[in-house]
Amino acid sequence: MKRFRRVSPSRYTAMQACLLREVWTASGNDSLLPPSPHAELGSIAHRILEAAGRGELEGVGNEGVDERWKALVSEAEARMELSPLRRHQVPLSRSIPDFQVRRLRTYSRAVEIARDAHRGSGKLPEPSRRATEFELWVESDEGELGGFIDRASETTEGVVLSDYKSGAILESGQEKCSRELKQAYRIQMQLYAALYRQRTDTWPVRLEVIPLQGEPIEVVFEPEHAERLLHEAKEFLRAANNRIDAVQDGTMDTTVLAVALPEHCRLCLFRPACSAYWDARQMDIDAKWPSDVRGILEEFTPLRNGKICLRIGQADSPSLSSIVVRGVTDSLDRHPSLTSMPIRH
Ligand code: SF4
Repeated sequence: MKRFRRVSPSRYTAMQACLLREVWTASGNDSLLPPSPHAELGSIAHRILEAAGRGELEGVGNEGVDERWKALVSEAEARMELSPLRRHQVPLSRSIPDFQVRRLRTYSRAVEIARDAHRGSGKLPEPSRRATEFELWVESDEGELGGFIDRASETTEGVVLSDYKSGAILESGQEKCSRELKQAYRIQMQLYAALYRQRTDTWPVRLEVIPLQGEPIEVVFEPEHAERLLHEAKEFLRAANNRIDAVQDGTMDTTVLAVALPEHCRLCLFRPACSAYWDARQMDIDAKWPSDVRGILEEFTPLRNGKICLRIGQADSPSLSSIVVRGVTDSLDRHPSLTSMPIRH
């Protein structure tokens, strides 16, 4: 377990949500549950957009983007094939229902960015856009906060900072009826603004988040508020490292780093090993926790349809009836631990 040297604006709200998850991730711990294939595709899309911003896709058109996309997808799939947790998600085109839609959206945004990068290089100046920098590194005076801004465009009105997002950008449940940007992204952009000001002594005139499809969404900000967020993030880092030190020297337990709530744990890939999570489930049984169970495997029955059925006695509530899980594939490739289970015919 290591202290954090710096906070990235893109991870700040995740660190605030549950420090333990971020510590485990930063320490390089393997995830214990399969990551979402959508996240894998999102990171491929983002790498394509970054390449477009660096000018690597300039003038290549859809065919050049396609080549880069295929190379990144096959690289990701080769990596996923090595993991028993993930190989069932290969090919991504099968595990992600709207794979082709996401591919086409990425192409179209990448071509647009590549064109923009070309203009920004001064070869084809646009009246309202004077210079564009992509992947611009910004950090605080003492380096406690830092990250790459996807795009900083100098316009006649001033500098516009933009960040590309490959997934959903609106608060959940509001995608269709509201334009409420996720709070994490609003904070991230304001931190970028404050860091940009530290680097250049100038505030940007506009902050925006650009989804794979559709118009950019503006993040309205006040410089004083952005400065305050920056100060809070630095304070947060100091306090977080104090807690990590306390865990390392044994004066506190790792659970002091955890904030186990359904909305935090739902997407966490360390749930099986997290005692804070299992304890919290016990304390609040009515909350909307993920559908997990842990306990003793009491019965393992092959079914006629080629699937298997598991009966698991609940470790956390032995008085409650066992949980039956039906329809599990009997593929050893998918579930290698099946080899060590006793079978009841
Ligand atoms: S399971 Fe929940 S409490 Fe545990 S590390 Fe993950 S997010 Fe934090």
